[in-house]
Amino acid sequence: MNMETSHEHELLTATVRKFVDTEMMPHEDEVDRLGQVPEEIGRQIEARAHELGLFACNLPEEVGGGGLDLSAQRIIEQEFGKTTHALHSWAARPTEILLACEGDQREKYLLPCVRGEKRELFALTEPDAGSDAMGMKSNARRDGDDWILNGSKHFISGPCMPDFAIVFAATGADDTPRGPRKRVTAFLVDVGTPGFVCREGTRSVSYRGYKTFELHFDNVRLGPGQILGEEGRGFEIAGQWLGMGRIWVGASCCGKAERILDMATEWAANRRQFGQPIGSFQATGFRLADGAMNLRAANLMVTDAVARHRAGRMADQDAAMVKVFCSEMLGRIADDAVQIFGGMGLMEELPVQRLWRDSRLERIWDGTSEIQRHIITRSMLRPLGA
Ligand SMILES: Cc1cc2nc3c(=O)[nH]c(=O)nc-3n(C[C@H](O)[C@H](O)[C@H](O)COP(=O)(O)OP(=O)(O)OC[C@H]3O[C@@H](n4cnc5c(N)ncnc54)[C@H](O)[C@@H]3O)c2cc1C
Repeated sequence: MNMETSHEHELLTATVRKFVDTEMMPHEDEVDRLGQVPEEIGRQIEARAHELGLFACNLPEEVGGGGLDLSAQRIIEQEFGKTTHALHSWAARPTEILLACEGDQREKYLLPCVRGEKRELFALTEPDAGSDAMGMKSNARRDGDDWILNGSKHFISGPCMPDFAIVFAATGADDTPRGPRKRVTAFLVDVGTPGFVCREGTRSVSYRGYKTFELHFDNVRLGPGQILGEEGRGFEIAGQWLGMGRIWVGASCCGKAERILDMATEWAANRRQFGQPIGSFQATGFRLADGAMNLRAANLMVTDAVARHRAGRMADQDAAMVKVFCSEMLGRIADDAVQIFGGMGLMEELPVQRLWRDSRLERIWDGTSEIQRHIITRSMLRPLGA
């Protein structure tokens, strides 16, 4: 589908906004209270996403996806960002890494995910290897043509129990001028494979109801057809898509910030103290003004990154800048909103506290703010030999 004209984008915005407003937001409180999405609600969202052509909209038409252009995907991420991940993740956008599937893998993994028959997890983080992904202990050793996988992953998230996981594990080490460097390989591992345990992990207070899973591998035997891409090239495959993922985090943060800022502005206009709307006190009004300025800047950064990617000149530091700026912008707006709402900002009966909790995760997942700043710094110093 060619979504390049602004009229089509306007229609898409209206469609997604209505979907979020009428079929997701009404369930937010219940999901937050229960700490889970009732199965029938998740399935309803999934079914509507199919009807609206939003399911797997990020994947190309050749594989049965929606084939939406980047601007259209940005609209979806931004509108979905206004609600909780626990709900909009049911309207799945399978990871683009699956496009690396070849031969039988396409029928077994990629196409069922596009059709909504299977769900995947992206499993990189480990209890002792978060920011330092290269510190991973998960490993696979050769046994004839097979591989034997051992290790553990945690914080691996998704809306519901998956059918398989894309698991990153060390399959050896290469000598480099900076010393030995792990060879990391991506494996497709089916839930139900002997030795593979996938169970729900601890609950996050951000996006309550969006599940995290713990994955344990105890001598899991995998055939050569379970490698995604080439042996030793797992990070290259992931890296092709991680950058855009960070841009989508930025777009999602802009959507949520817009919602929170609207709420705070309305409250500041209507809540009166000392005989005046609290927004007329400079301390409150300037918070709104700063929020509006930073939100506009964040939106422009996302637009710029989409244009860079389209032109084939987006670098790691571009994605890192968007991720840091947008997630920190959201954090400030969410915190200021709680302040503007005063005591009511912390009460469960209003959504502000929930949006504030949800916002907090955005500075942590997909690479923390500190790691993004390292990426930016490196891009500045490396050319100077430092
Ligand atoms: C709800 C949720 C869902 C998630 N989903 C997934 C998923 O689906 N798949 C997946 O693979 N992972 C997932 N993650 C993991 C997430 O990406 C990690 O939590 C994140 O990368 C940080 O790793 P960590 O939690 O181990 O923190 P740590 O790496 O232990 O970091 C702790 C603190 O130390 C700082 N720090 C670490 N190293 C440095 C450094 N060199 N310089 C400066 N500061 C540093 C960090 O910035 C952070 O502030 C999820 C996490 C959460 C909470």
